[in-house]
Amino acid sequence: MDSASIAAPAAPLIDPFGRAITYLRVSVTDRCDFRCVYCMAEEMTFLPKKELLTLEELDRLCSAFIRQGVRKLRLTGGEPLVRRGIMGLIRGLSRHLDSGALDELTLTTNGSQLSKYADELFECGVRRVNVSMDTLDPDKFLEITRWGRFDRVMNGLEAAKKAGLQVKINAVALKGVNDDELSDMVAWCGAEGHDLTIIEVMPMGDIGGEDRVDQYLPLSLVRARLAQRWTLTELDYSSGGPARYVRVEETGRKLGFITPLTHNFCESCNRVRITCTGQLYMCLGQDDDADLRAPLRASEADDLLDDTIAEAIGRKPKGHDFIIDRRHTGPAVSRHMSVTGG
Ligand code: SAM
Repeated sequence: MDSASIAAPAAPLIDPFGRAITYLRVSVTDRCDFRCVYCMAEEMTFLPKKELLTLEELDRLCSAFIRQGVRKLRLTGGEPLVRRGIMGLIRGLSRHLDSGALDELTLTTNGSQLSKYADELFECGVRRVNVSMDTLDPDKFLEITRWGRFDRVMNGLEAAKKAGLQVKINAVALKGVNDDELSDMVAWCGAEGHDLTIIEVMPMGDIGGEDRVDQYLPLSLVRARLAQRWTLTELDYSSGGPARYVRVEETGRKLGFITPLTHNFCESCNRVRITCTGQLYMCLGQDDDADLRAPLRASEADDLLDDTIAEAIGRKPKGHDFIIDRRHTGPAVSRHMSVTGG
């Protein structure tokens, strides 16, 4: 049956805690053109290309989740826009927007390729993108990303705006690196018409000698500091993700806080994640996973795949327990954020 023709889910995915799984995040590649210090080591070993799901397989997998009630799909990575042929996948998936099966198709990107792709993304029904940017200082940007070019990202943001894409900036709060700048980023986002989400650094993957305790800045502190300059009003708004939002009254823009360490919001988690090799992770902060590549490749029909997905959702844990302190300096999970996608 053509999955595009199905608007209503056959059987929505509900986990053991009664949470409906309506949001899928897919890491389409583990490769990235940046090497952010909190995300990757400078020398990374990436997966051999033959391990990766093909674009056709990624489409089939996403479509299986959509058939089972997923309404929001986010492509991430690694850097999703460096995967060869990515626009073909996005164009193909946009049929689910046209059919009404999907509410939102979006992506998280470092912005380096947005100048090239912004118009086409809009044509494919993408309306919002998250762009990761931790600083407005070009030198610091190079220090954080190791390989990133600030001007390229700024051009990408301009192109996104011109194309009509709404941009949300994601900034990871890094102690002693960008803490003095976050307030100015609120102002800049206000002037540019972007929302902003600030994220606590999570203990994921070996980052080659960098110390998580040195990086970690609790957002309770960040928020208290921002409140000295800005009037922050609590909002009921949810973008379907883990951020809790306030409105910055002076700019009128939304400001989100993602606080997996100081306050997790696992009780309302509606998300699962797939890696570019087809491993399904039911929780960002736990190691349990389910292999979807084998059932995907075992048969052209989707029955086995659907059963494997349903069985895995039946094991979704209640939550994660990230801790960063002097006794817990290593990663809570061994995989990098680029594997499961941020
Ligand atoms: N390349 C894309 C990008 O830069 O947005 C998508 C992948 S990146 C892994 C997704 C997000 O995860 C980025 O906003 C990045 O800052 C964030 N991230 C990576 N490692 C993290 C960590 N250890 N803790 C918190 N956020 C992290």
